[in-house]
Amino acid sequence: MSFPSVYLKTFGCQMNVNDSQHMLNLLAAHGYVPTPTPDKADLLLVNTCSVREKSEQKFYSLLGRLISLRKSASVLLCVGGCVAQQEGEKLLERFPYVDVIFGTGSISRLPMLVEKARKTGKVQIDTSFEDEFLSVAGSNGSIASDIKAFLTIMKGCNNFCSFCVVPYVRGREKSRPSGEILREAEHLVGSGVKEITLLGQNVNSYGQTCSGEVTFPELLRKINGIPGLHRIRFTTSHPKDLSQDLIRCFGELEKLCPHLHLPLQSGSTRILKMMNRGYTREGYRDLIQRLRAVCPHIAITTDIIVGFPGETETDFQETVDIVHEIEYDEFYSFKYSDRPNTRASKSLTKVSDKEKARRLSLLQEVQKHITLRKNRRLVGNTAEVLVEGCSKTNAKRLTGRSGSNKVINFEGLPELRGKLVQVEITEAFLHSFLGRRV
Ligand code: SF4
Repeated sequence: MSFPSVYLKTFGCQMNVNDSQHMLNLLAAHGYVPTPTPDKADLLLVNTCSVREKSEQKFYSLLGRLISLRKSASVLLCVGGCVAQQEGEKLLERFPYVDVIFGTGSISRLPMLVEKARKTGKVQIDTSFEDEFLSVAGSNGSIASDIKAFLTIMKGCNNFCSFCVVPYVRGREKSRPSGEILREAEHLVGSGVKEITLLGQNVNSYGQTCSGEVTFPELLRKINGIPGLHRIRFTTSHPKDLSQDLIRCFGELEKLCPHLHLPLQSGSTRILKMMNRGYTREGYRDLIQRLRAVCPHIAITTDIIVGFPGETETDFQETVDIVHEIEYDEFYSFKYSDRPNTRASKSLTKVSDKEKARRLSLLQEVQKHITLRKNRRLVGNTAEVLVEGCSKTNAKRLTGRSGSNKVINFEGLPELRGKLVQVEITEAFLHSFLGRRV
């Protein structure tokens, strides 16, 4: 007996990666097996991202290619995620061959929509925000990996940063009940998971929108108490909601990994105000000092946007200066792009593409030197590595991550997968390290 196959392509952030896992779990309960190539798939599924213009464009070009594979009537093409939420029925004007369009809050209904499209031959569209929180365990009890797992603790966002489309495509902020989160975390650990990453658009404000719920630091303390769990991570954090209590957690909770992704977006207070970020350059700098005071070796990564409308050379220079000063471990930098409905998209003081490209490449060059310098300082240190499997580029090597989220490769036997091992760092590169087991 052959099972129907599903090809899934995911664009975007970890929230989308997690949503994609839910999609596969739900489809698996209806007999679908994943396939890595689209050519012979019965279901072509794309989980889209609209946070930046570039990822939206990549999706449109993939869709153009997938449509040629949808020649046979038995192959269905489904589009989910942020672009589907944003565009809805309008997608059909450009791509009339799409069979199912489902939004970020309609994932649980995907198998039903597929079934209906197959039976009726009619396009199915669902962009309602009706989904509650989906269980990681999925309808067939499977999880993404037996070592690491994502766990959604809140979703949506109320902040309306002036460049960001998320509040429009993910809806208003909603926290998941802490009892449900703890039960799911225990279930994951019972299935062998060693590391849990708590997910949300702004995890720091967890619990603020529902009365009687614990705060995010209190939730972290409860999860830290789960026997058998080794590591906790979380993303994403908004600086304006990073409380002293949360900072203290980095010094107190032994399972909380010493790594924080704290989006700066701009080093200019003037631009931060225009972005509606709710903090200043000085306030952000103060947070970093307090974090380093409680956890001196904490790795800090960030997101930065260059060429926000109205960004002058002086504003940009302030970003370059703070990047030099903070010395991030790594950063993700982007050229500003207009996003539908956002306040910044209506601004008339746009920075030219050429100038945005110049600023981006200059800033990336600065960070490249900082990252390399910081990485080289780690040579000779020993790190605890959670082994994730064999390296993709060298079969003799294993790969894993340290608590501070550094990718470390070293020689070892595949049986070490899922184990925490001590590795001495022998060589440092820009995005990874080489080491030997000690
Ligand atoms: S906090 Fe700002 S950048 Fe983050 S999701 Fe909300 S609106 Fe977007």
